Amino acid sequence: MSLLRKIRDTGRVAEPAPPEPKGEQPPAAKQFGGSVQVRCVDAGSCNGCEIEITAAFNPVYDAERYGTRLVASPRHADVALVTGPVTRNMAEPLRRTVAAMPEPRLVVAVGDCAIDCGEFAGGYGVEGAVSDVVPVDLAVPGCPPEPDKIVAALRRVTGR
Ligand code: SF4
Repeated sequence: MSLLRKIRDTGRVAEPAPPEPKGEQPPAAKQFGGSVQVRCVDAGSCNGCEIEITAAFNPVYDAERYGTRLVASPRHADVALVTGPVTRNMAEPLRRTVAAMPEPRLVVAVGDCAIDCGEFAGGYGVEGAVSDVVPVDLAVPGCPPEPDKIVAALRRVTGR
């Protein structure tokens, strides 16, 4: 009973949906029919971007209401959210992860490190940016990008 009372007293915590984000829907995304399964890959980040991705899927930003859902296997995923500069150890796992995803598939580079190596550019353990390793369809700049930016990128994919 106390749980039910808490649910009733808390009410809805999700922020009101912001207007539909501007920007073209990536061509491949039109085949997803408005909903996508999402696999996250940390290719070498400081974990800051992961914290923001976690927030994007919490009850406040609630990315799931726009037709996105996190999955544990790339074989179930339409979209890969990739963070961090790609370290030498993660280059091959990232290639294999993307190759394991069924087509059509999209790769979203999340954060400045994923886009151009950011703070870690030139590091001895860095292979390169995400686009140096796998084709990238969308990029979300920021260090780290705010959850609403990540949600906006996913909404461009689902078109919702
Ligand atoms: S973009 Fe910033 S928060 Fe994200 S992995 Fe790089 S340093 Fe960390």
